Parts: sequence; C-alpha cells; structure tokens
Amino acid sequence: MRVVEVRERSVPISRYDDPALPSGGLTTSAVALITDVVRDGRPVVGYGFASMGRFAQGGLIRERFAPRLLSAPDVDLVSPDGRNIDPLRAWTVMMAGEKRGGHGERCVAVGTLDMALWDAAAKIAELPLNRFLAGHLGRHPQPAVRVYAGGGYYYPRDDTTRLADELRRMMGRGYTHAKIKIGSASLRDDLRRLDAALKVVRAPERLAVDAMNTYDPQAALSAAAALAPHGLWWFEDVCGPLDFDTLAAVTAMYPGRIAAGEALFSSDEARLLDRHGGLRREQDMLLFDPVHCYGLTGFLEIVDVLEVRGWPRSAFWPHGGHMFTLHVVSALGLGGAEVNPFCFEPFGGLHDGAGVNDGRVAPADAPGIGWERKADAWRLFDSLTDG
Ligand code: MG
Repeated sequence: MRVVEVRERSVPISRYDDPALPSGGLTTSAVALITDVVRDGRPVVGYGFASMGRFAQGGLIRERFAPRLLSAPDVDLVSPDGRNIDPLRAWTVMMAGEKRGGHGERCVAVGTLDMALWDAAAKIAELPLNRFLAGHLGRHPQPAVRVYAGGGYYYPRDDTTRLADELRRMMGRGYTHAKIKIGSASLRDDLRRLDAALKVVRAPERLAVDAMNTYDPQAALSAAAALAPHGLWWFEDVCGPLDFDTLAAVTAMYPGRIAAGEALFSSDEARLLDRHGGLRREQDMLLFDPVHCYGLTGFLEIVDVLEVRGWPRSAFWPHGGHMFTLHVVSALGLGGAEVNPFCFEPFGGLHDGAGVNDGRVAPADAPGIGWERKADAWRLFDSLTDG
C-alpha cells in the first residue's frame, strides 16, 4: 500500500463571493494524493488543500514533503494490520529530519498533505472522515456539529451596505451566529460596521468580531473598552499572535469571551498561550486550525496538551470554515466549527444540499471528506488528476 503520485497546484482564492474584488493575491495549495489501492476499478485518491488565509505552499510540498511520502517503504505508511494507510505514521515520514520549532509555513505544507492522507484513508475504509477518525481515536462522532458563518471582510466600496447584505444572506441560510472583521479601519468606522451588522443579526450574543491580529497594545485596549458594552459573542485575534502581554491585559479588563490561537501552530505555542495569555477556561475560545498546525497529528497534540491543563473540548472552535474542520469537530467532540458560506470559494462552505438546522450541520455522508459532494471544489480537485 503506497502513495504513488502527489499532484499539487497553487490556486487563487478570494475573501469575497465576488472573486473580482481584490484579495491581495491570496492563494492556496490543492493536492491530489494518488494511492495504489483500487476501488471500483479506480485508484483511491485523497484530496486536500492548505486551508484559508496563509498563501500556497507549493515549493515546500514539491521539494520536501511529497518526495518523502513517495519514497517511503510500504511498512512506514500502513496501519499495523496492513489494511489501510495510517496518516499518523505517514506524518512521521513527512517530518523525518525536521527540527522542532521554527515553523515558518512548513506546518501548512504538512497539513495540506495530511488532509489528503486522511481523506484517502477514510475512503479506503469506506467511511466518512468523522466516523473513520472517531473510530481511530476510540470515540463516537457527533452526528451534527454547531457552526457559525464566518466572513464579513471589508468591502472596498459600499462596505456597510454590502456587509449587511452578506449577513442577511447568512441568516437566510439558517445560520444563527456570524463573525465579521474589524481592526483594519479606525475604531469609529469599525463601530459603524458593528452597528450595521447588529441591525441584521439583532442579538449581540450571536455576533463575533475578528481583529485579525492587527492591534498594537494601546489599540487593543481601546477596542476592548469600546466593544465591551455590546455584549458580543466573542472578540477574536486581538493582537499579535505571540503578544501574550497585550492579550493578558485585554483579557483582564474585557468581560466577554476572547478567542485566540488561530495563528499559533504547535503544542509548545499553545502551552505558552495558556500560561501567559490570561485566557479563562470557563469562557474563552480556542481557534487552532487543524490544517495549519501540521495537520491532525499536530492538532491532536494541542487538544491533548490543553485538555490536560484543564480546557474543555467545548472551548475548541477551529478556524478554517470548510468541510474538513466539520469532520474534525464531529469526531473529536469539539465545541463547533466555522463555515465560510460565501467566501474562499471553491473550498469554503458546505457540501451541496447541506442544511443548517438550529445552528447545526451534519458532515457529508460520503467516504472521506466528501469533496465529491461539493460540485465547485470537486471540479478543481478532479482536474488535478486529468491527464
Ligand atoms: Mg481570525
């Protein structure tokens, strides 16, 4: 049982449902991992991508991590019973010779291939990923997981009108909770966008704001003071990801929920966040992205480390907004998942026909992640193996 070929492509990705709006040249990597396992006369192929927001990782995938998988002997990739690829063992193969720390963005490259490995392994087992992964971990998957609609990026023109329209469409699709961006405009302008959003969502405890790690210490404290009376769902990515002093200062004076961890990539960093960020286990949220954290192996380590330190699994709401995170949340029994219903096409959002009921969604009921059930994503992934 081997990986016989890895195909990779860098693809443009937009923060808006209108890809003509500028997204700073943002890209991501899509991969097809072709195995020598045959089902219905065709090789089993696992598909993955580099999640959202950190640009494509093609060089690292092509030069370092895919070659290690391709040259690995069968015995290093398969489960002890020899019946499937074991993504945890394959992860060790990918990381051979890599020193600890200094993540750069190799963590994203590894996470991209890791997603494809889990997709392939679940397909070989003929199970949806949430059931396969839960079985692997001795757990029972949640049949449906809590979700919220992510988006609300700044529009270059007619910002508040278009923001309100986007939120109306989110609510129209059955989402009960949503998240918008702040931090890239003046506080006065951001409070104006918050007002526009609240007029649509109505209940402030259902609306979160994400400052995208933009605030310096003073701006973070000013924003926290201005946001506090609104009673929002959460205040996310308050300051620089490793600026634990500022995060702790904000947490000490902000009574609502703080959400952090999206731009941290290892269990070492997770431990530092917990030790120095002032976060409160009984209310704050953890946003580690299972793809950006070296894939599921790294993410599971983070969950373990923080669970031992007293964090409940319900505090984990992974960043990402796509179908893979939905499976991971279901399998691990985490709090909930972001979904990007309109942005980051074709990867954002849910499988075709998925319904949001009472703020919950069931992962795709197809072998693997179920990319084959999402027509726009599937067109792209399928094209990787053309020719
Ligand atoms: Mg964020």
